[in-house]
Amino acid sequence: MGQYVPPLRDMQFVMHELLDVQSELKQLPKHAEIDADIINQVLDEGGKFTSQVLFPLNHVGDREGCRLDKETHEVHTPTGFKQAYQQYVEAGWPSLSCDPEYGGQGLPLVINNAIYEMLNASNQAWTMYPGLSHGAYECLHEHGTPEQKALYLPRLVSGEWTGTMCLTEPHCGTDLGLLRSKAEPQADGSYKITGGKIFISAGEHDMAANIIHLVLARLPDAPTGTRGISLFLVPKFLPDADGTLGARNPVFCGAIEEKMGIHGNATCQINLDGATGWLIGQPNKGLNAMFVMMNAARLGVGMQSLGLTEVAYQNALAYAKERLQMRSLSGVKAPDKPADPIIVHPDVRRMVLTARAYAEGGRAFSTYIALQIDKELNHPDEEVRKDAADQVALLTPVIKAFLTDNAWIATSEAMQVFGGHGYIVESGIEQYVRDARINMIYEGTNTVQSLDLLGRKILMDNGAKLRKFGEQVKSFVEENGTDEAMSEFITPLADLGDKVTKLTMEIGMKAFQNQDEVGAAAVPYLRVLGHMVYAYFFARMAKIALEKQDSGDDFYKSKLGTARFYFARLLPETAMLIRQARAGSATLMALDADLL
Ligand SMILES: Cc1cc2nc3c(=O)[nH]c(=O)nc-3n(C[C@H](O)[C@H](O)[C@H](O)COP(=O)(O)OP(=O)(O)OC[C@H]3O[C@@H](n4cnc5c(N)ncnc54)[C@H](O)[C@@H]3O)c2cc1C
Repeated sequence: MGQYVPPLRDMQFVMHELLDVQSELKQLPKHAEIDADIINQVLDEGGKFTSQVLFPLNHVGDREGCRLDKETHEVHTPTGFKQAYQQYVEAGWPSLSCDPEYGGQGLPLVINNAIYEMLNASNQAWTMYPGLSHGAYECLHEHGTPEQKALYLPRLVSGEWTGTMCLTEPHCGTDLGLLRSKAEPQADGSYKITGGKIFISAGEHDMAANIIHLVLARLPDAPTGTRGISLFLVPKFLPDADGTLGARNPVFCGAIEEKMGIHGNATCQINLDGATGWLIGQPNKGLNAMFVMMNAARLGVGMQSLGLTEVAYQNALAYAKERLQMRSLSGVKAPDKPADPIIVHPDVRRMVLTARAYAEGGRAFSTYIALQIDKELNHPDEEVRKDAADQVALLTPVIKAFLTDNAWIATSEAMQVFGGHGYIVESGIEQYVRDARINMIYEGTNTVQSLDLLGRKILMDNGAKLRKFGEQVKSFVEENGTDEAMSEFITPLADLGDKVTKLTMEIGMKAFQNQDEVGAAAVPYLRVLGHMVYAYFFARMAKIALEKQDSGDDFYKSKLGTARFYFARLLPETAMLIRQARAGSATLMALDADLL
């Protein structure tokens, strides 16, 4: 149903022409051997696996969903999911960017990230199984004891075992300080964990031999609130020191949630009935340890949405070229046909181009962030590592919220291109809208991301990280300010940069009087910043496209057209968003809750 062609040409453009990833990686001793050929080869193979193996299972997963056997507590995934996972493991995909010390291939994250875009475009629900494992790998890699690492990491790296993150409880989602699950210390150094978790993605399934749950719980003497939360490793089957699976741990799936989308992923209620677990990291510092996983997962959710944006765009474009309805306003375009294809209509083009621009902007931005993470982890110069870390910290909430909001817009516009057929299951497009919606909610809602950005990353930091990114934009503006051909991009980019500076100062001043001002401004503020990032990357991409537009390769003409569309039709949203962000909290907070 539908189509997915991995966007390899655009990925290569971003990697090699926009960001010169190869030269950047040469600075990192660990990745100095990686060249453009290796990158292209991996992307090519990833494209084959995702489009040929996973994409055909996307609709199957949506229709069939997962099934819980209440007798055995086992969950059966949709037809073909398990076999696809075996192929994925045999081909070594789970280990791509993992540490060679634990069996990984040690490739940079920037390549792994591009693979994740394709995995998610092909099948988001399926991709969540290995996606969560990768988060668990990163958390254990950073915070596990040597024994935990030796036992668990090689099996997570190979994909033999998968992982989950168990935070949410019925009464606590955003506010993890309310968490109630308990951990009782045992004489042998383990803990007995008791409690009920809900909404646990990939919480139970039949795809791997063991499932490693990372569970937040409280020790008996723990302080209340977020300062009293610890992180525990709770395997489904208790392994020996050599990894042989032993007794079934009492950590059971009680039910699978019925939900709007991502039906192929088992969203589980998980009951821990005195399950055996081991502490990860320090007591009461579980949230710090879990943050490693949450940050990786936030970038991961951005990639889910980028994948959906791309696949929705491709299908909307294909349909718009085929579907015949009405004649073009400016004269018949297909006289041999009873009507023109709908791609002739300006508003259909607006919808297709909206999805395309959000896909291309998101790809440039997320590839840049993945590369910054590689630099943060591996650059020999401490200053460079710190700068990269600052950019990642500042822009991770933007990746999560801006890309997921845009995917909701893009998939909805793509569905509109299909007219009534888009609303019918057979078209395949309505699944993308349903699947895209969750990405705005989990991993910290987009509101929470905006508060993290404006409150913690900008105002509490006195704008230092934002200024650093602003300097980068400013130098690009200065370098290209006298280039006539670039003025259509440079003028609005410079103007938005100034407005962001003023807006940030204005909100900062208001926040001194009343912290609700931050909450009132944060969501439109994050979107403004997201647009500033996209405008910066589109301007850089337009510069390359202008230089190469007469090269005979139409790719550059398309790129330039998309950049022009973005500046003319999507960026102006910032004018409205800035007004909203400046409107203050008064109209939101004036009425008593009873009067709302
Ligand atoms: C399909 C699915 C998969 C999931 N997978 C996992 C998983 O694998 N592991 C896991 O642990 N959890 C998972 N979750 C849970 C998910 O992360 C939470 O649902 C999410 O964090 C929000 O928590 P909540 O649902 O309790 O909403 P609440 O926290 O009750 O929030 C309700 C609303 O209030 C808003 N709000 C709350 N506090 C504030 C504030 N201070 N300022 C402004 N607005 C605020 C929120 O933004 C939201 O709009 C999953 C959920 C779903 C639906």
